[in-house]
Amino acid sequence: MRACVDIGGTKVSVSLNAGGGDRALLATRTEPTVQSGTPDVLACQVVRMVDEACMQLGVLPQSVQSAGVCAPGPFLLEQGAIALASPNLCGGLTAGHDRSNDWRTVPLEAPLRQRFTQLRIENDAVAALEAERRWGALQQDGRPLDHCAYLTWSTGIGMGLCVDGRVLRGKNGNAGHAGHSFVSDNLDALCGCGNVGDVEGLVGGNAIGRRFSTLGYPDAATLFIAAKAGDTRAGALIDDLCRVMGRTLYNLIATLDLQRISIGGSVFWHHRDWLLSKLQAEVAGKLPALTDGCDIVAAGLGERVGDFGALALVA
Ligand SMILES: [Zn+2]
Repeated sequence: MRACVDIGGTKVSVSLNAGGGDRALLATRTEPTVQSGTPDVLACQVVRMVDEACMQLGVLPQSVQSAGVCAPGPFLLEQGAIALASPNLCGGLTAGHDRSNDWRTVPLEAPLRQRFTQLRIENDAVAALEAERRWGALQQDGRPLDHCAYLTWSTGIGMGLCVDGRVLRGKNGNAGHAGHSFVSDNLDALCGCGNVGDVEGLVGGNAIGRRFSTLGYPDAATLFIAAKAGDTRAGALIDDLCRVMGRTLYNLIATLDLQRISIGGSVFWHHRDWLLSKLQAEVAGKLPALTDGCDIVAAGLGERVGDFGALALVA
């Protein structure tokens, strides 16, 4: 039995898996991510939730010694062990946003190594990419694609990248943080990371509420409901969001020569019927020598891409 852990800025999800090629996720539990206390409370929450899942399933907690953990980046190495420096978790890093803590980093690998003898921690978009290549939309005839990316459009914007069959990681496991690429001089586009005018600051789920609440759209859901009801101003704002995201997709293709990008994340997933064709249209026809032969598709694993991402790290 192994543990599959998906840490997000909003919630933590834990499942158990029997191994041996079985993809069933058992005793799944979800809780809000702890936001206050000492920085190691997050690792303590993970360990407690795994132990509770074991009790629910009737297995001894010590029989679960292997864990796959996906978490939001950026990562830092503290004495060689992965710690999280994510603006979506650490109040000490966030510019201009209320947080109930002043954390600058959250230790993860060091405390979890005390509980699990086998542990693999990856950025959540990298884990999702691996799951999509094995079981989702980034495979063909049962074989993982060699040149592909997974993009999450959620509270934040993140990517997992694969070129020539190799998943890209980088010096601290942070390859794919192109959501923090600068694309605009908009002064209203303050990202949680402190950048003004990066992709996430313009189109991330948090950014949508922050930028458009004074126009009567306090969150992404309200904006999309209004657009679907015929509100042309809401529709135009969404078109602007798709222009930014479409350029981001184009830049990815131009940089990495990809054959397919799959997209997930709550903002995209809940409104994919509206967004997918717009994003495809933003890319189609631009420099065909690069973009022809690259498909843009919805995540094959849908809303479960996070859980399966954690499974991909241990299965
Ligand atoms: Zn940013």
